[in-house]
Amino acid sequence: MKLLDGKKCADHLVADIAGKVAGYTAAGLRKPHMTIILAGSHAPSESYVKSKLASCRKAGFDGELVRLPEKIAEAELLARIWDVNNDAGTDGLIVQLPVPKHIDKQNIINAIAPEKDIDGFHPANFGRMTLGQKAFRPATAYGICKLLQFYEIPTRGKHCVVIGRSNIVGKPISIMLSNDFDIGNATVTLTHIETPRELLLDETRRADIVIVAVGIPGFITGDMVKEGVVLIDVGINRLENGGIVGDVDFENVSKKCSWITPVPGGVGRMTVAALLINTLIAYQNKFKPG
Ligand code: NAP
Repeated sequence: MKLLDGKKCADHLVADIAGKVAGYTAAGLRKPHMTIILAGSHAPSESYVKSKLASCRKAGFDGELVRLPEKIAEAELLARIWDVNNDAGTDGLIVQLPVPKHIDKQNIINAIAPEKDIDGFHPANFGRMTLGQKAFRPATAYGICKLLQFYEIPTRGKHCVVIGRSNIVGKPISIMLSNDFDIGNATVTLTHIETPRELLLDETRRADIVIVAVGIPGFITGDMVKEGVVLIDVGINRLENGGIVGDVDFENVSKKCSWITPVPGGVGRMTVAALLINTLIAYQNKFKPG
């Protein structure tokens, strides 16, 4: 078993981005700028935001956090998004999810200017990605593709099973891997909570690649996968003792894997790296540096 080390891959990508940014600033351009809007205070969100801002610093970006109160009205939050949309000094905008319960998440996602939508959740980007066109790709799914590319894991012609159909992970990665992309051309089965258990087991046991994003610790057990499987564990589950685990029974499943992502240090790091790549693309689209 070998580890798909998200930290190592992300560090490599961030160093590459930092080199490009150093070149642009030396030529007189401003730094790329990522703005994160955080409404309310939610412990996991605080930790994700901290990690995104730290990565901005490593990449040579300006990272800006706009803190808004938990009780902010939806109209006010939309107005703040429009401000950032119209701010020529910001290249990429993230509204950290989840938003407070009284706010309609989809209205927020739809309000972000597609050209600044580095999460890749806006329908314009998601639609273009689905059609195989140039787009900001949803960051976690894009990060998984970058990790597979870094470790030269072939996807063409492989049978891939994705468990979980969220708009932010399961759905986009299933589309991206089945599309005619460099990291793609797989035969993908997307499963979800209505997938009968027997069918799920049939699928996972013959899969070459399993990607799990359900948010249930220990969901994938050793008897569910074949020898040599590539296992991508997207789950981030916080335990009462403060520890973080994925959706895989790592100890038993890893024995059967050719490759597996650790949690932490796997997909989470890649999501942040993908956000930086998307921000750099947004910046390059604006400045068209040489
Ligand atoms: P989500 O929106 O809650 O979606 C979970 C999905 O899993 C749903 O599609 C659900 O099916 C499906 N599911 C739940 N129980 C299932 C079961 N017993 N069998 C089959 N499918 C089942 O979650 P998410 O946002 O995709 O996140 C999933 C996990 O990934 C969480 O732990 C989250 O923290 C983590 N995550 C990590 C990163 C990262 O960067 N590493 C990024 C995003 C999320 P239904 O649609 O039918 O309900």
